[in-house]
Amino acid sequence: MAKIIVTGGTGYIGSHTATELINSGYEVIIVDNLSNSNINVLDGIKKITGIKPVFFKTNLADASETKGFFNHVADADALIHFAAYKAVGESVKHPLKYYRNNLNSLLNVLENMFEKGIKNLIFSSSCTVYGQAENLPVTELSPILKADSPYGNTKQISEEIIRDSIKASTQIKAISLRYFNPIGAHESAEIGELPTGEPNNLVPYITQTAAGIREQLKIFGNDYNTPDGTAIRDYIHVTDLAKAHTAALQRLLNLENKSNYEIFNIGTGEGNSVAEVVRTFEKVTGIKLNTKVVGRRPGDIEKIWADVSLAEKELKWKAEKSLGEALLSAWIREKKYRGI
Ligand code: UDP
Repeated sequence: MAKIIVTGGTGYIGSHTATELINSGYEVIIVDNLSNSNINVLDGIKKITGIKPVFFKTNLADASETKGFFNHVADADALIHFAAYKAVGESVKHPLKYYRNNLNSLLNVLENMFEKGIKNLIFSSSCTVYGQAENLPVTELSPILKADSPYGNTKQISEEIIRDSIKASTQIKAISLRYFNPIGAHESAEIGELPTGEPNNLVPYITQTAAGIREQLKIFGNDYNTPDGTAIRDYIHVTDLAKAHTAALQRLLNLENKSNYEIFNIGTGEGNSVAEVVRTFEKVTGIKLNTKVVGRRPGDIEKIWADVSLAEKELKWKAEKSLGEALLSAWIREKKYRGI
């Protein structure tokens, strides 16, 4: 049974991936500092899989803590690195916090992987690296434009750190997965997204509005150059995204990778506007949302969606769930979490 370290494994994407890995027969070790997640997530994973993963509370941005953690897991076969801050707006306000945390943790993880001989890395990257691309859909060869936020910049720099490290030594192989917009929750509703305070992201804002926690969903702009004027994204069900990690891991462990550093877009290949997301949510739940169009949100791009043909061909992976299924799962999770 291959042993996989999942950093940030109590977080949103990390917990769904840990669940998927356990269900696929991997041994999972979670390391997280619980700065934006809850230890109870481990119980959710156990309810779904029957296994409570081994857990270490460690701040990976701290070099000595990280070294201590790796002394316990030196025999791991691979590491999936999710642990990072992820709020775009917060990163604009507190850039140093973002650079310090996201870059130091990656550097510490890589150094210890080299030292312990852990050979395989999967990195959580983001479609933010493309900025507002001129040509859509974006492929992995689309230009990397200057990042709009410190958060986006940490993802660009992290990809470069990994590329340079792998160029300098063939000891490690890596795959970066550039996620589009992950939404939804595990079908059991035992785990899901857990935003603290007022959500930044669209879908948690929608489900909290439906639950009566927020009064009104603000639609940020209806004057974009899109069919209905609202911005377009590629929304992917988080369990489909989790499965992409298992596929990438199998590729590395089975020595099927074509180069020591590969990059794949992970989306559905379809773009949906904010208005379409609202309409679809209303249709699948039967709940009418209180919405109001307001001005554009600074830093937002107009439209992006993925060309996923490379992931389909090489990872033999494809997103399977529809927007409606993803939105319904987010709502079922919200209700379970709130006891509605
Ligand atoms: N959005 C919105 N109202 C909200 C939150 C988001 O209209 O309360 C829009 C946002 O402007 C963007 C889309 O929904 O066009 C997705 O935003 P989100 O923050 O979920 O993801 P992003 O693409 O910014 O990473």
